[in-house]
Amino acid sequence: MCTNPYPSWPAWDGSFDYDYNSLIGRLEKEKDRFLAGDSIYLTGGEPTIHPNFLEIIKYLESNFKKQTIKLLTNGRRFCYGDFAKDFLNINPNTEIDVSLHGHDRASHDGIVGIRGGFKQAFEGIGNLLKNKKNSQIVGVRFVITKLSYKSISQFLEKIYKCYPDIDRVILIFWEAEAQAVENLEKIKIDFDKVHPYLDQAYDSVVRFKEFRLYHFPLCALHEKFWPHTWITLPDYEVFYPNFCNNCNYQKYCMGVQKTYKKFIGLKELGSVKKNIKIVKTGDPHHPIRSVLEL
Ligand code: SF4
Repeated sequence: MCTNPYPSWPAWDGSFDYDYNSLIGRLEKEKDRFLAGDSIYLTGGEPTIHPNFLEIIKYLESNFKKQTIKLLTNGRRFCYGDFAKDFLNINPNTEIDVSLHGHDRASHDGIVGIRGGFKQAFEGIGNLLKNKKNSQIVGVRFVITKLSYKSISQFLEKIYKCYPDIDRVILIFWEAEAQAVENLEKIKIDFDKVHPYLDQAYDSVVRFKEFRLYHFPLCALHEKFWPHTWITLPDYEVFYPNFCNNCNYQKYCMGVQKTYKKFIGLKELGSVKKNIKIVKTGDPHHPIRSVLEL
């Protein structure tokens, strides 16, 4: 379930060294570049199992005060309450997204391959929510694959029942890279098959403080979902097929993943010609605030 390959990618300078001094050395060398951005992502592997994780968070807090620290994690280490508190006490400007892959132990643990992973991640989310400051954001991410698409509603129900105050919930359409390509036949699914299950879940999604969809072209969704779509993939991973030239909403759409065309095809997608009134946000990553006429 990790987007990173094995063995891992090198860092941007070609190094495979991830010890504390190497990491800090790299950050120091490119400090200006990071200071120019608005956020710094910590992703993996699993960042929280780095032996100097909290020291790295302290370094980031002291050196990048204006940048939001965004952590993508399996959430397991936060099942230790003291660790969760220590982490949250360092930097008030932090966002944490925990990856969950099922609505219960069997489905989540079966996908991540770790018995007990669901219990730890779920407890971790609880500890984070209980101890977070108002300025900190705690959310969950769920990747939609052939293994998980039928349980979208059950997953959302479970989250709402246990953590109704969670700051955000993100559903991500699968992406064909790294481990996903290795397990393609087990996980690949097309938009058409996902659509009814997502539709069924609509009443659940609108109850959350914030609900996001990543990696969905607009024509793969009913327009009621459009205000929840975010554009997060880099330009080189997506493209606009010819039919997009006749689409009224190309400006607000991420296009289609190149690998989706390669592994699934394009037949269920096509230009949106009807007139749907949208309210824009002005944010290129989240272009649609609301849909006025359905
Ligand atoms: S036709 Fe192209 S631009 Fe229009 S919604 Fe579909 S993918 Fe997006």
